[in-house]
Amino acid sequence: MRDKYDILKNIFGYTEFRRGQEEVIDAILSRRDALAVMPTGAGKSLCYQIPALLMPGMTIVISPLISLMKDQVNALRESGCGAAFLNSSLTSAEYHNVVNAISCGEIKLLYIAPERLQKAAGLISGANVPMVVVDEAHCASQWGHDFRTSYLEIADFIQSGIFKTRPVTAAFTATATVKVRDDIEKILGLKKPFCITTGFDRPNLYFEVQKISEKRAALLACLQTRGELSGIIYCATRKAVEEVFELLVARGFSATRYHAGLADRERRKNQDDFLYDKKTVMVATNAFGMGIDKSNVSFVIHYNMPKNIESYYQEAGRAGRDGASADCILLYNGQDVQINKFLITHTEDENGADPKLVHHNLELLKYMTFYATTGDCLRKRLLEYFSDETAALCGHCSNCLTEFEDADVSLEGRKIVSCVYRLKERNRSFGKTMIIDILRGSKNEKIMSGGFTTLSTWGIMKDSKAQTIRAVIDFLIDEGILLLDDGEYPVLTMGNAGPLLRQEKPLVMKLPKDRHKPEPVETRLESKFNDQLAGEVDPVLLDQLKKLRREIATRESVPAYIVFADAALKDMCRKKPMSLVQFSGINGVGKVKLEKYGEMFVDAIRDYDLG
Ligand code: ADP
Ligand code: ZN
Repeated sequence: MRDKYDILKNIFGYTEFRRGQEEVIDAILSRRDALAVMPTGAGKSLCYQIPALLMPGMTIVISPLISLMKDQVNALRESGCGAAFLNSSLTSAEYHNVVNAISCGEIKLLYIAPERLQKAAGLISGANVPMVVVDEAHCASQWGHDFRTSYLEIADFIQSGIFKTRPVTAAFTATATVKVRDDIEKILGLKKPFCITTGFDRPNLYFEVQKISEKRAALLACLQTRGELSGIIYCATRKAVEEVFELLVARGFSATRYHAGLADRERRKNQDDFLYDKKTVMVATNAFGMGIDKSNVSFVIHYNMPKNIESYYQEAGRAGRDGASADCILLYNGQDVQINKFLITHTEDENGADPKLVHHNLELLKYMTFYATTGDCLRKRLLEYFSDETAALCGHCSNCLTEFEDADVSLEGRKIVSCVYRLKERNRSFGKTMIIDILRGSKNEKIMSGGFTTLSTWGIMKDSKAQTIRAVIDFLIDEGILLLDDGEYPVLTMGNAGPLLRQEKPLVMKLPKDRHKPEPVETRLESKFNDQLAGEVDPVLLDQLKKLRREIATRESVPAYIVFADAALKDMCRKKPMSLVQFSGINGVGKVKLEKYGEMFVDAIRDYDLG
């Protein structure tokens, strides 16, 4: 009798479950609906793939992205499992192959795009379907970040009478807000689901924010240390993608690009170039990546700040899925806030989105901005957002590694607040830049024509750097002492400034002493996230194994990581298996892969050791 441990080892080649996986599997196997909230890279797929392989019949997996399906199906087939997908990318011959395989009972997992559910009903109606899986389930909620109307039809589909008995329904997402979770439960019609939210921390990720005006130079500096390491650069707009892409190509980086403005063919090709390691860097809008399971992405740089923390964490979380150290870097300046505001207030107006939603999204943007400007531990800020408990300092983010000094900025704070207050007396309010200009005694056009040189606060901070004043303003906003209004032009207004003005409490903030640059990923210690990863890896052997993997991948037309993840290759380098039995003990080697590739890799390792 096969059980979950057997499948874990023999199909997927792993020895232990990760946090939360076993509980979800058990719930599903006891025929209970489930809602699992786990961060990207936590291993959600296994939670439904294992029960699907154990239960009789064909599980249906509703998945929003073609690339995701293709990847998952490839990976399952590589491990010897009957899997297929139905989406618009299939030729009619391929479609008929799938239909045939279904009728022969060869398919254990069928991936379908939500838009195709109704069409597929006829095909499915005869089959025994023990479970319907809804991947990226937050797409059902308009409070999430990838709302799709087709997700609203899933509940009807499940209830529609196509199925003799109602299949178990299991929903998966990385989005943790209560609103979204409630929506998922309601909209998908889950019945008393087993709910689990696993910890959101990804210890192998290093977080960094760079507050800078000149992003191009900063980006190039970031890339310079990374050699052949694979990474994604996210930009807010298509235009920015084009600019950054051109810059990188001109500087000789192996880069490709992805955004909705490119023709389908080019998009697919570029994506494949990246997945198959033909290009090292992907420059993309957020259209790229949902469901991209490339495990060896070693950095994600945000060239622009995303709209909210959920999007940020999800996008950044595409780094380091193999458990190896990876970097998540945000390049921030104040313009990012303006661009996002524009996107939130304008794009959604056209769809007639309700003002409540716009307001909600602006609030989320505020949190994101706090993250970008805070002097606190970045990981703490992220995890707090997901209501995850954390230590006050993680020791593994740019803020923890920057030497800060506690600076008493009460005086600066009072000057800034007074300036806002004096303007208010004149029924005027302005954004940060103008406030800074007034405080520093600028005589620019706007200040002269507005007569602001007569303000008592004009020029009272003429010896302070604009950057420092800005940092204090951000801190005041963060503390609720000033408020940033959400009009078309964001202006500063008075918040809870009483205690500061009455000098009841000093205003102490962390100011960086000197920027500590982390070492590049390659030289940093590998994370303990994955125990198997501990220990030295011989880089020459690793190179050879990668070469072998590439040859196999090319021959089979799959991305290299589908053959073996980097983590598996590294495990081979450490354990140097000399026999098939030893090879079966490698992390990520199941039965099928053992039979298919064992000999090749053992030979390569033996040759290397003898040579
Ligand atoms: P998610 O969908 O949650 O983002 P995936 O299901 O794509 O994550 O899994 C991320 C990576 O972790 C994959 O490479 C997967 O093979 C690996 N993984 C999943 N479960 C385990 C496990 N129990 N042990 C080791 N690796 C695992
Ligand atoms: Zn930290």
